[in-house]
Amino acid sequence: MFVPLSAKDFIDRAVTVYGERIGIVDESQQPAEPLESLSYARIDELARAQAAALDALDVQPGDRVAIVSHNSARLLISFFGVCGYGRVLVPINFRLSHDEVAYIVEKSGASVLLVDPELEDELATVPCRHKFTLGASGDEQMYRFDVEPQPWEPDEDATATINYTSGTTAHPKGVEITHRNLWINATILALHTGVSDRDVYLHTLPMFHANGWGMPFAMTGLGARHIVLRKIDGNEILRRVAEHGVTIMCASPTVVNATLAAALEWDGDIPGRDRVRIIVAGAPPPTKTIAQVETVLGWEFIQIYGLTETSPLLSVNRSRSEWDELETEQRAAKLIRAGTPSLGTSLRISEVGEVLARSNVVMEGYWDQPKETAEAIEDGWFHTGDGGTIDDEGYLTITDRLKDVIITGGENVASVEVEDMLFNHPDVAEVAVIGVPDEKWGETVKALVVLIPGAQVTQDDLIKYCRHHLAGYKTPTSIEFRSELARTATGKLQKFKLRKPYWEGYDRRIN
Ligand code: AMP
Repeated sequence: MFVPLSAKDFIDRAVTVYGERIGIVDESQQPAEPLESLSYARIDELARAQAAALDALDVQPGDRVAIVSHNSARLLISFFGVCGYGRVLVPINFRLSHDEVAYIVEKSGASVLLVDPELEDELATVPCRHKFTLGASGDEQMYRFDVEPQPWEPDEDATATINYTSGTTAHPKGVEITHRNLWINATILALHTGVSDRDVYLHTLPMFHANGWGMPFAMTGLGARHIVLRKIDGNEILRRVAEHGVTIMCASPTVVNATLAAALEWDGDIPGRDRVRIIVAGAPPPTKTIAQVETVLGWEFIQIYGLTETSPLLSVNRSRSEWDELETEQRAAKLIRAGTPSLGTSLRISEVGEVLARSNVVMEGYWDQPKETAEAIEDGWFHTGDGGTIDDEGYLTITDRLKDVIITGGENVASVEVEDMLFNHPDVAEVAVIGVPDEKWGETVKALVVLIPGAQVTQDDLIKYCRHHLAGYKTPTSIEFRSELARTATGKLQKFKLRKPYWEGYDRRIN
């Protein structure tokens, strides 16, 4: 028997099995009216009401609904109210500038744009057919309780979400994730991390980022409780762990560091000791951080690896029984690797050292970009753009980034996008943007600039110029003026040479 996999399956099971259970505790500190303590029955009602409102707006299955929001219950419910009824959700990074959001809304062809109240003014002039602010009056237009939504006949190959990600091109590309992709990703991630209906999940990861790695679906389908967290703060993470009995969360190494720093100042027992598991990805955390998760926090550290293009789960590294007797440091040295392939995934290293993946979680393609899709998926293997090795135990380690992408605080920055912006400045003759190691953010954006003769522009001027046009995290944190930049005979920038002096003393060329 073939039954198509659908995003709606997760909420359907939650309402059938756990209808009366509190499924979402919304953030209380938010500009919109919080949707506090929602039972799964109520979440289902809201999802249906959202689908009915989209019917009334004549938004058809396959049409795109964009949302720019910090973590919130309304965003979480949209995964079911939009995707569960055949529309395509486009969750947009709330850190992007007005122009960057406008680009995504236009390219995805979204007919609805839902905006966080905090971003209402900044995004006021982004064009879109229907625009609503989340909360307050927006709720009246976004939820219709007086009619039943049109049912959608699920198609597992239909696109459920389009997630824009910065890669190697000057503009972000839209990654098309199908219902089948997200279903398999969510269930396999839940399987490897042992999710159950006893779990309490803290949303320390932005939900827009690769659909919160699939946890919004996994936690719902298995009846766990979601605790929405809007702004990252180490102390607040510990406080919420204590308040809500949190058992599981996902984080970039930057968030792990913020939590560790808060723990050192924390009065009394660390909340969640011997209870919380923290799933980390985005960059390779140092061994010291991994060891401290165990010693300072008393939490279990699990590393995963993947990309927006792979829904994202490709590999997982969770301490196995053979490592139980090891000292903390020895176990940390094993956990520093990206892990073994997740169930249903094959990984191999190409001749040039690139990690290739084959799995049901690999995207359908880049939205409206067949050429880029064909370059990314070749002969049934997805090219990750990451350099890596697989050791004798079958564990993958990510050692390098072959694509020209900088990862800062868990966010991707395409060097070329920042280079393009600087090139637009009339005083800039040449520019190379590189990632350099940074204690807080892992990597940070640095621009090496050759000015036109006689130019008077300063570092600060150029940084301000970028900040005006680009998201804050893409803006260079430092600019160095040079008289020339290393190039090959054919004039191509030699990025590896330019990066080298900043990476002395590091075993890997990513941080
Ligand atoms: P994104 O599409 O924004 O999720 O970024 C995906 C990229 O993050 C990958 O291509 C890697 O470069 C990096 N990444 C994710 N997880 C890890 C990890 N565990 N170790 C090293 N790099 C990682």
